[in-house]
Amino acid sequence: MFAEGKVEVSRDGKYLSTLAPGKVLGELAILYNCKRTATITAATDCQLWAIDRQCFQTIMMRTGLSRQAEYTDFLKSVPIFKNLPEETLIKISDVLEETFYNNGDYIIRQGARGDTFFIISRGQVRVTIKQPDTPEEKYIRTLSKGDFFGEKALQGDDLRTANIIADDPEGVSCLVIDRETFNQLISSLDEIRTRYKDELVERRRLNEEFKDLRLQDLRPLATLGVGGFGRVELVQIVGDSTRSFALKQMKKAQIVETRQQQHIMSEKRIMGEADCDFVVKLFKTFKDRKYLYMLMEACLGGELWTVLRDKGHFDDGTTRFYTACVVEAFDYLHSRNIIYRDLKPENLLLDSQGYVKLVDFGFAKRLDHGRKTWTFCGTPEYVAPEVILNKGHDISADYWSLGVLMFELLTGTPPFTGGDPMKTYNIILKGIDAIEFPRSITRNATALIKKLCRDNPAERLGYQKGGISEIQKHKWFDGFNWEGLRARTLEPPIMPRVQNATDTTNFDEYPPDSDPPPPDDLSGWDNDF
Ligand code: ATP
Ligand code: MG
Repeated sequence: MFAEGKVEVSRDGKYLSTLAPGKVLGELAILYNCKRTATITAATDCQLWAIDRQCFQTIMMRTGLSRQAEYTDFLKSVPIFKNLPEETLIKISDVLEETFYNNGDYIIRQGARGDTFFIISRGQVRVTIKQPDTPEEKYIRTLSKGDFFGEKALQGDDLRTANIIADDPEGVSCLVIDRETFNQLISSLDEIRTRYKDELVERRRLNEEFKDLRLQDLRPLATLGVGGFGRVELVQIVGDSTRSFALKQMKKAQIVETRQQQHIMSEKRIMGEADCDFVVKLFKTFKDRKYLYMLMEACLGGELWTVLRDKGHFDDGTTRFYTACVVEAFDYLHSRNIIYRDLKPENLLLDSQGYVKLVDFGFAKRLDHGRKTWTFCGTPEYVAPEVILNKGHDISADYWSLGVLMFELLTGTPPFTGGDPMKTYNIILKGIDAIEFPRSITRNATALIKKLCRDNPAERLGYQKGGISEIQKHKWFDGFNWEGLRARTLEPPIMPRVQNATDTTNFDEYPPDSDPPPPDDLSGWDNDF
């Protein structure tokens, strides 16, 4: 940041502008390891403040965390919040808004109606009560940091019984929440809790079938895809030609090199336990000295990405069907507190019946109740602003990417695209309202995309009262047969051609693996895999 003097901004030798003190330079470059996009030259003697990336990222994260901790502490001291679980308090602390009042401002007026609750975060207020038959107000007491008022408003009693006046030369800051936001949050949290059932038992039974299966029993037929850590092969069990599976193989040395050990373990756990028709099932894992393997159900309809590439874009109805499949998958995952974080057409596979399933859980993570996470991950075009800014994110980041997916399916290109990741991030930070929607996108689709791609995670549809059912009830889905989708009786918009269990014609062709085998990885981190 710039303290004194004058600097000039130029790009490719062309003068762009002059900056004066107080301006921040390179705010995205500091978050990410990227090339500078402009040249800054000192036009006079200058004094600058500088901070390095690591330090900045840590501060962003710590500020987020300590703010959350401070607010939850405030909340714990309020009687009506006392019995709420920690996770709920954390959620409430996320939606609290800080509001500033000047000295002498009436924050609450006696006799007025209001539905807001306040906690003082800075400064002091005076509580007074009107005296009958005179304009005089009687002083009752002074409240300061950590004190609260207006709590009855949250329980439905909205007639204010006293005046609250800012009484601090520096002004007063309050954390504020209104009844509607409060009730929305509480009821959606309740809903999530009561809906959670444990199907682990059923899933274990399914995996039991493959208990004695060995890697040697599998015969590779063709390559289905090439991922970050190796290939995904179509395989059959020797002696059983009716079925086929996808075997994902990952180089251990490369996992260690890119420090993805934790991600791989969580991918295994989440996919191995998930029991949902819209999530690819993982049946068994293997390992040897060089690779880890995951044996999954095969989806022979190919990637949705390939279908989209061939068609250019989808119509409203087709997009609705695929989006609905993702909504069902998210409903399943989010109600178990699992965030997916890697939505994009490449990670959506068509099964032989034309239904879409989520694959690639390398970035998925189970969050502790009400907690956020900070790891930067995802694909540039699909990441939410809070992920870019390292503010901490949770399942609401998936709703953002759902809006991006809808846009990409409807038009063939995601809404936020720059030539490189850094430009893309800059466009994302400008928000969805800066994006021009082609006329071909219907009004209802536009409305839903805009409700999903809200800058503020707490305002995104799906994250509020009613949870994900608010998305299902949105106008764009009017008349959509959700029951038929769940029962798999609804006819899919595109029927892939899959002749038999070994038909790989819906996949691109891959040349045989010519890489030399990777070195052994004997570090032992994969003991639990
Ligand atoms: P990346 O990190 O590049 O996304 P990855 O290493 O995480 O890749 P996946 O995305 O899981 O790997 O798989 C790579 C590709 O392999 C998929 O995009 C898909 O084309 C194919 N593939 C993966 N799993 C299956 C499956 N169960 N059935 C059919 N094809 C699959
Ligand atoms: Mg992938």
